[in-house]
Amino acid sequence: MTKAMMIATASLLLGACTASDISEPAPAAPAPQATAPEAPASETVTLGALPEEPKLRVEAISENLHVIFGPGGNIGVSSGPDGVVLVDDKFAANSEEILYRIGEITAGNGASSDLLFVINTHLHGDHSGSNAEMAAAGGLVMAHDNVRARMGTRYMNKAFGREQAVQDRAKWPVVTFSDRTSLHFNGVTAHALHTPSGHTDGDTLVHFVEPNVIHMGDNLFLNMFPFVDVDAGGNMQGMIDAHDVALGIANADTVIIPGHGPITDVTGLTEARDTLQAVLDRVRVRKDRGESLQAIIDADPLADFAALESFIDRPAIITAAWRSLGGAFPAGE
Ligand SMILES: [Zn+2]
Repeated sequence: MTKAMMIATASLLLGACTASDISEPAPAAPAPQATAPEAPASETVTLGALPEEPKLRVEAISENLHVIFGPGGNIGVSSGPDGVVLVDDKFAANSEEILYRIGEITAGNGASSDLLFVINTHLHGDHSGSNAEMAAAGGLVMAHDNVRARMGTRYMNKAFGREQAVQDRAKWPVVTFSDRTSLHFNGVTAHALHTPSGHTDGDTLVHFVEPNVIHMGDNLFLNMFPFVDVDAGGNMQGMIDAHDVALGIANADTVIIPGHGPITDVTGLTEARDTLQAVLDRVRVRKDRGESLQAIIDADPLADFAALESFIDRPAIITAAWRSLGGAFPAGE
């Protein structure tokens, strides 16, 4: 597929979609689905065309490794002579601009713009929302086994009080793995490592070995309380463990890409890990004393972490810790 066709296909898909542009990393409601039509041969599309309202910002870690910021999870972009590898792909509504930014990056560094692989760090719609569009553009979508399994399963999300619908098959990863897999492209090795039961039960962190970069997915929210998707098999202790896995790989020069928040290093990763440990420990002490969830929330044991509140506030992170420790939710269940 030519680049023009690729962009044309994405544009046609976008025209049929009205996915909302929410930025919270909760599982997004599936966007209305469209079947990718073949781009008419007569249609001409300018590669340089930006969407009417650009929402994405590119930051270079090196000549061949970039991060795309904007609504939803951070995208890692590796580019080189073989083509482009993405870690995550935001929302479907961002797909046209993602492809535009890939064109911009590869025009700048002389890399091939062929889309090779898309690795989903987990199933949430702000990290996998453009899967169908990226697959239509030639990308092979990969993820942990549980991502595909959960995309094909309806389940109740108690934290948000809503049912999670089965996602359209066009979004499902076509290559899945249980523990780890390695990719070799652009002279780089990338290890995709599953870390069990953290943000969800289908998490992957991606270690770009030679560039010394780790994409943490949503096991790392920098400078904010994280969302722990207990209803999708997540657990706060597992998130802490995922930090430790990355810290075991990283050195002082490693660049750390969080799922949400700015690029950081081992210092930022360590601080985030220790904060999460403190949250879990403070809730555990009170739970072990027999306090109810409401009593712990009322005691406000995380008042000194108020600056970390975003869409997850203190009651929400206390509830996530409580549920991670096996506490009943809602009360009485
Ligand atoms: Zn997430």
